[in-house]
Amino acid sequence: MNFTKFPRRNYLQGPTPIEPMPALSKVLGKDVNLYIKRDDLLPGAGGGNKTRKLEFCMADALEKKANAIITCGAVQSNHARLTASWSAKEGLDCHLVLEERVKGSYKTDASGNNFLFELLGVKSITVVAGGSDMMAEMGKKADELTAAGQKPYIIPGGASNTIGATGYAACAEEMMTQLNDMRLKINHIVVPSGSAGTHAGMVVGMTGVNGNIPISGVNVSRAKNVQEDIVYKLAVDTAERLDIKGGVKREDIVCFDQYVGPGYSIPTDAMVEAVKLFAKNEAILLDPVYSGKTAAGLIDIVRKGHFSKGSNVLFLHTGGSPALYAYMDTFRQ
Ligand SMILES: *Cc1c(COP(=O)(O)O)cnc(C)c1O
Repeated sequence: MNFTKFPRRNYLQGPTPIEPMPALSKVLGKDVNLYIKRDDLLPGAGGGNKTRKLEFCMADALEKKANAIITCGAVQSNHARLTASWSAKEGLDCHLVLEERVKGSYKTDASGNNFLFELLGVKSITVVAGGSDMMAEMGKKADELTAAGQKPYIIPGGASNTIGATGYAACAEEMMTQLNDMRLKINHIVVPSGSAGTHAGMVVGMTGVNGNIPISGVNVSRAKNVQEDIVYKLAVDTAERLDIKGGVKREDIVCFDQYVGPGYSIPTDAMVEAVKLFAKNEAILLDPVYSGKTAAGLIDIVRKGHFSKGSNVLFLHTGGSPALYAYMDTFRQ
């Protein structure tokens, strides 16, 4: 895969660590060796997966001479926080359009990411009702800024277009190089599947380097078939952008949807247990919306004997821990 043909900023400080999780593996008692790739430790205020995508999206914006970034997300969006963070670093204005997916969930004085939006100096926050056409809402903001003489650039939700997903194809390559250096054979990878750029990019990158490690996505909002179609479409388009011979196969896209619970961002008992198990055994902070539910899925399929004895399973930690502080009551109950 040749990433040099795309505009790219230099937001990474080298590969994120891959660490064993011996204590958690032991607690689960199934002779499955768990490993973790620490994308929660990526640079950008608060860390997390969007930095890999924004390396490419922000570079595209700068190449197009934009001076204002518009993006969207949920009220506790990590993507919005990291877009605000990199906009601050690049000296660009940042405007957020937040979707109130759970009615009444936006509070100006909320903690977590919401507090950080302000601290990172976002220029405006527009809150819209759940189910709104976010592209249209961002378009309105763009028109407003253009009329005021600015040059806005829209980054879609989660930076999950082919430009952003390219960052996760690069991650798969980085990871395979690390695994080779570590002489570590991983049998299976588990990733969160939300706006789909992470999952799609990982599958594209795995195909591009011929890595042949199966990847499972754990959904955080949608039903299995709906999410798999979204991931597949983005993966096909991203593979085309990266000129990957043969492209990705439909059967390489696999999602689990049993861990969503009542809906996006709504806590589940299994998520609470997963966050506590990771914290107590490995001193790793997950988040309530993405990595916590994905870890709940990982823990459940390990317990159910999904992986054969002695296998090595890698969990991609996509970050999000600042959102924990908006959910303290959930964990103290
Ligand atoms: C956005 C996000 C995800 C999901 O990644 P997608 O590329 O949107 O599927 C997972 N974890 C965290 C912490 C996130 O912020």
